[in-house]
Amino acid sequence: MKATRVNRPARTKAVSKRTTAARRRTKAGTPGLAPARGVKSEEGIYERLVSAIFEHRLKPGTKLGEEGLAAIFGVTRARIRAVLPRLAHDGLITLEPNRGAFVTQPTVEQARDVFEARRLIEPGIATRLARQPERSTAVARLRQHVAAERRARADDDARAIVRLSGEFHVLLAELSGNSLLAKSMRELASLTCLTIALYDKPAKPSCLGEEHGEITDAIAAGDARRAAALMVEHLNHVEQELDLSMGAEKPLDLAAALA
Ligand SMILES: [Zn+2]
Repeated sequence: MKATRVNRPARTKAVSKRTTAARRRTKAGTPGLAPARGVKSEEGIYERLVSAIFEHRLKPGTKLGEEGLAAIFGVTRARIRAVLPRLAHDGLITLEPNRGAFVTQPTVEQARDVFEARRLIEPGIATRLARQPERSTAVARLRQHVAAERRARADDDARAIVRLSGEFHVLLAELSGNSLLAKSMRELASLTCLTIALYDKPAKPSCLGEEHGEITDAIAAGDARRAAALMVEHLNHVEQELDLSMGAEKPLDLAAALA
């Protein structure tokens, strides 16, 4: 994950430049997002917002004003109002009465709870998969994903690295064949992603890609005990990369994150 380390300063600079531009637009009466041309359907708007949050372009704590979003996507406020509850259901945003919608900002305590829950659930998911007699299709799918992560790292594609890291864990849960575990994992992955956006130590990666490969190998070998142990170790590493000793960084304004 050296790639991410190298990439960070450049990315931060780019973001702050965009934010300044966005603020300027806000003052001029256009909300702080560049027009997201061509995305008009509920599904399209939902996807655009999810990826902006997952790729850390929309930071925890950012207010998502209905009017601003409607202008950005060129749709009615009613359409935005139809999308927001879905994001809230995923745990990605929080709807506050009389205040509006905000990208969820997990507290330090919630962040610790997320990792505690993941350490309870995910070794079980890995075990379940490793014990499936017919797991070759699942293993092939996991290997494909690990290869995509490797490519993203080779390309220094920080956005893709962040997104794919979280998706690996959701994919494991989905492939395990327990829909309730998959549903819980999606929510936990969302919260983890927000936690990383808030508490990641500067210039440190989140998931270490080769660890995903090792977990996949253990599942492929049918070694449930090793798969579960590697998962716990991996989650400990991810949590150790966070700095939960301090408060969250100040949230950014709604930036040109959906362009
Ligand atoms: Zn991971």
